Amino acid sequence: MTDAPERVGLCFRCIHARIVRTPRSVFWRCARAEWDPRFERYPRLPVVACIGFEPGPRPEDEPGEPPSSSEPA
Ligand code: SF4
Repeated sequence: MTDAPERVGLCFRCIHARIVRTPRSVFWRCARAEWDPRFERYPRLPVVACIGFEPGPRPEDEPGEPPSSSEPA
């Protein structure tokens, strides 16, 4: 995974995005997926179109676990 804007797409500047950094990688989590089943917790990047996109500042990093193997990274 990445944190280069061209590889992240819309999530890079969406208020719903969260950056999950682990020692080995970076994951982009969609916080909107917690309450809206239309969204994937870890969307496939780059996201080029999204009905939930709401522009805002670059998301904060958050500590966390990487997605499980059953979820797309
Ligand atoms: S709502 Fe769409 S653009 Fe925003 S973080 Fe989720 S997947 Fe990315």
